[in-house]
Amino acid sequence: MEFFGHVIDGEEVASKDGARFDTVDPWTRRPWAQVALASPDDVERAVASARRAFDDGPWPHMGFAERGRLLHRLADLVEEHGRELGGADTRDMGKPVSQSVGNDVGRAAQNLRFFADHARLSAADRLPMDSGHHAYTVHGPAGVVAAIAPWNFPLMLETWKVAPALAWGNTVVLKPAEDSPATATMLARLAIEAGLPPGVFNVVHGYGPESAGQALTESAGIDRITFTGASSTGRAIARIAGGNLVPVSLELGGKGANVVFADADLDTAVDWSIRAIFTNAGQVCLAGSRLYVQREVYGEFLDRFVAAAEAMVIGDPSDPDTQLGPLASRSHFEKVRRYVETVEAEGGRIRTGGLDSGWTVRPTVVTDMPQDAPHCREEIFGPLVVVSPFDTEAEAVALANDTPYGLNAMVFTENLSRAHRVSAALRAGTVWVNCFFIRDLRAPFGGVGASGVGREGGDFSREFFTEPKAVVMQI
Ligand code: NAD
Repeated sequence: MEFFGHVIDGEEVASKDGARFDTVDPWTRRPWAQVALASPDDVERAVASARRAFDDGPWPHMGFAERGRLLHRLADLVEEHGRELGGADTRDMGKPVSQSVGNDVGRAAQNLRFFADHARLSAADRLPMDSGHHAYTVHGPAGVVAAIAPWNFPLMLETWKVAPALAWGNTVVLKPAEDSPATATMLARLAIEAGLPPGVFNVVHGYGPESAGQALTESAGIDRITFTGASSTGRAIARIAGGNLVPVSLELGGKGANVVFADADLDTAVDWSIRAIFTNAGQVCLAGSRLYVQREVYGEFLDRFVAAAEAMVIGDPSDPDTQLGPLASRSHFEKVRRYVETVEAEGGRIRTGGLDSGWTVRPTVVTDMPQDAPHCREEIFGPLVVVSPFDTEAEAVALANDTPYGLNAMVFTENLSRAHRVSAALRAGTVWVNCFFIRDLRAPFGGVGASGVGREGGDFSREFFTEPKAVVMQI
């Protein structure tokens, strides 16, 4: 069986004590590879290697052009190895290859290229002062960055963290999710091939609580924590980071509202609403899992939406035609299954969908659900959407904002004034109007409330991954 090791100090290694765990292919429901399982000692080895590479190595002083050249080389290698990388994410967590190979690999390469260029081209503040002094800002690297990633977009979200951290001259220890470990090691192998100096980019594997994740966040050798995952985990990490005074960036869960007004183009609204909830089998923090439709078009929209959900191609994620594969793991399937099985007990009605074979859940459309039911309030992270009618714009905004989360929302309308008005009123880090998941990597990305703390993207990543310094000179 294939083996994925830690990558520490430029070498792929097993754990000191030889501990390993299996990674399971959710389609076959059998292990497909083994992975090194880090002890706290292994994590400290990785942090020490990153520290040495930061304190003594060439990386922080190399200059943006040379670091950028190496990151572009890494992006080239990611593209060259796109099939293997995307295929590994698919085997680890069941994402259809049409998305892993077809989308995520390209986005991973784009993350590396964008941040390499952004760091090189960013201008710092220059502030000539009335007093005759001159102030300017220097964005020096923060040091050793701990990056902890979830399993739903493994390669894409890992590069979203690693790329800006490296581009700004930091060194990194990445802990991927235990359900999707393969591509982190593969990326680190490619980083060695690209010529990144030893210790600049390290990977350790393991679980979260009382395992590699916790050990990494508690390490005294780290200067930043960038975390993407569940809100409950974010709270645990924030407590530790607070105690150690380590700045933390938290991209957490969501319960995205998707608001379709009667004046929307219904072809556009149905198409994007399907993608918003069923992409990656609903295992998307940004999923439009609460769909609010204005009453005048509710019936027509629902008929078309249900028909589109039923037309989705479900099955083997390695088949290029598959649009919806299994859920990522047995435990996650069990969690989503409980929500599917309690729809009726909570007062809702399943219009289409339900459980399929294995760990697959069909695109499931639920109506008539009371707004205080768990299905409307908790992040299900599966292909289940609750559709509810509304009458007025004010009611739609109130329903959309009635959640502890605030990652994103979608609005479908052809009325320009309404689009601006509603976007301003929604409590969310991102609002997509007549679309979904379109990203400009310069834009802020992050959430409000239980969806996170801080923003990343473009200059926002720079603020987090550097220690901005003011220099004031007497001229
Ligand atoms: P999770 O929080 O269980 O795990 C995420 C990572 O944190 C894993 O690597 C895990 O091993 C590690 N971890 C868990 N407990 C830890 C601890 N106590 N200390 C340190 N590390 C720990 O989340 P998940 O189930 O892998 O991912 C799904 C969640 O991620 C969903 O809530 C989803 O909304 C969220 N998510 C958010 C975004 C975003 O950008 N806001 C993007 C993707 C996913």
